[in-house]
Amino acid sequence: MTAETAARTVPGSGSGFDVIVVGAGPAGSAAALVAARAGLSVCLVERGEYAGAKNMFGGVFYGSVLTRLIPDWWQRAPLERVVTRRVTGVMSETAMLTVDLRTTSFAAPPYNGVTLYRPRFDRWFAAEAEAAGAVLLAGTVVDGLLRGAKNEVVGVATRRDEGELRAPIVIAADGVNSLLAKEAGLARPVDEHHLAVAVKDTIRLPEAEIESRFGVDNVEGVDYELIGACTKDVAGGAFLYTYRDALAVGIVAQVASLAARGERPQDLLDHFLAHPGIAPLVRGGERIEYSAHMIPEAGLEMMPELAAPGMLVAGDAAALCLAAGLYLEGMNYAMASGMAAAETAVAAHRAGRFGLGTLAGYEDRLRKSFVLADFSSYKDAPRYIMGDRLQNVYPDVLCRIAEEVFRVDNTGPKRRLLRIATRELRRAGVPRRRAVRDLLAGGRIFGW
Ligand code: FAD
Repeated sequence: MTAETAARTVPGSGSGFDVIVVGAGPAGSAAALVAARAGLSVCLVERGEYAGAKNMFGGVFYGSVLTRLIPDWWQRAPLERVVTRRVTGVMSETAMLTVDLRTTSFAAPPYNGVTLYRPRFDRWFAAEAEAAGAVLLAGTVVDGLLRGAKNEVVGVATRRDEGELRAPIVIAADGVNSLLAKEAGLARPVDEHHLAVAVKDTIRLPEAEIESRFGVDNVEGVDYELIGACTKDVAGGAFLYTYRDALAVGIVAQVASLAARGERPQDLLDHFLAHPGIAPLVRGGERIEYSAHMIPEAGLEMMPELAAPGMLVAGDAAALCLAAGLYLEGMNYAMASGMAAAETAVAAHRAGRFGLGTLAGYEDRLRKSFVLADFSSYKDAPRYIMGDRLQNVYPDVLCRIAEEVFRVDNTGPKRRLLRIATRELRRAGVPRRRAVRDLLAGGRIFGW
C-alpha cells in the first residue's frame, strides 16, 4: 500500500493495529518489517512527506545487522560508495596526523561499510516494510500518546483529522529528543553535555575527480574521522565521507561546549573546510546542500527507560547511538533495537500481555545482543573523548611530536622519541605522569 492510499484508507478514531511504530528511520522501518513479517498488523507513522525526507547523517552505514533481515540488501538498496579507506586522526591548526587504513577486505559484499543518502535509503527501507505488509502513514505528525484505563499506552494521537491510532503496543522510534519517550516519563532530563549538534555540507565534485583525489577506484570510498583543532576549542569532531559524485563534510559539536565557547556550528564547519589537510580535498566543489541534526552522544548516561506498559523505545529515541571517538555508529544500533522491539511485540501478542513484565523482554534481548554489550563496554568513552586534554591538548602535542620526528635539520644528533614527547607535553603544561594516566584510561576504554 502506498503512503497516499494508506493515508486515505486509515480510518479515524478507533482504528486499530497490533503495533504502531512512530518514525520511519532505520529503527522504525526495521521494527515495522519484523513485526509485519511475523503477521502483525503494523502502522508505521512518519512525519516527513516520505520516509527519510527529513533525515540526514554523515555517513557510513554498517550493514551486517541488515543482512540478517534482507540478505541481498547491498544489491538492492540505493548506495553510494563502499568504504575501503578509513582515515582516523587528530588535527592541530596547521597539521593533520592520521592512521590511514586501506584494505581490500572491506571491498567484498556484503561490505563492512557503505556511504548513502538517507532520504533515498530510508525511503527504500520503509518500502521493504510496506512490502512485508506494514501500512506506511507518511506526512503524519504524532502529537502524543493515548492512555488506557490503567494509564498504559494504547495508541497515539496524530495531527490528522480524527487522527487517533490505536494498538496495544507503540514502538517509539522518533529519533533524538523523542517526544514520546518524554511524554511516557521514560526520558531522563536533557543535559546539554549529552547532546551534540552536527552540521554538514554536501559538496559536489565529479566522480573521476573524487577517485583521483582520494586514490580510490570505481565505487570505492573513504571515511575521515578527526578530532582536535577541526572544531577549534569546542568539544567535538569532524568527518568527511565520499559519495559517488559528492563529499559529505561536517562537524559535530557538543552543545554545552558550543555555548561555553560562544561558537556557531557553521563557523566551525568553515574553519574545518579551510584546514590545510581538508581544503585541497574539497577545492573546486560546489556546495549543494547544508543540513543539521542533533546526536545523542552520551550513551548509557542518557539512556531512557526502554519500556513502559504498552510502549517500547528504540534507536536514537533510546540514545542508542555510539559516539565514542573511534566509532560513530547509530543506524546499525537503531536497526538492531527496532528488530528487538518488534520481536518483543510479537512475543507480547502471542502471550496476550502488554504490561511491563512481558515488555521487559526487550531490554533482555538488547542485553544479550551486541547492542547493550557495546554501550556498557564503551560507557566511559563519550566523557573521555570529550575531555579537555583529549580535545584540546593531545591533538596538538601529537602533531608536534610527529613534525619533530620527521623534521630533518641535521644541526645535531636526532632526538629520541621519548625526549621529544616529554618536551612537547611540558610545553603543553601536561605532566608526563598525567599523560600516562590518560593513556592507560584510553587503553581501559578501548583496548583491554
Ligand atoms: P532517525 O533516523 O532520526 O529517524 C526518526 C524518524 O522519526 C524520522 O524519520 C523522523 O522524521 C520521525 N519522527 C520524529 N518525530 C516524529 C513524530 N512526532 N511523528 C512522526 N514521525 C516522527 N550513524 C551511523 O551509523 N553512521 C554514521 O556515519 C553516522 N553519522 C552521523 C552523522 C551525523 C551528522 C548525524 C546527525 C548522525 C549520524 N549517525 C551515524 C547517527 C544515525 O544517523 C542515527 O543514530 C540514526 O539515524 C538513528 O535512527 P533512528 O531510526 O533511531 O532515528
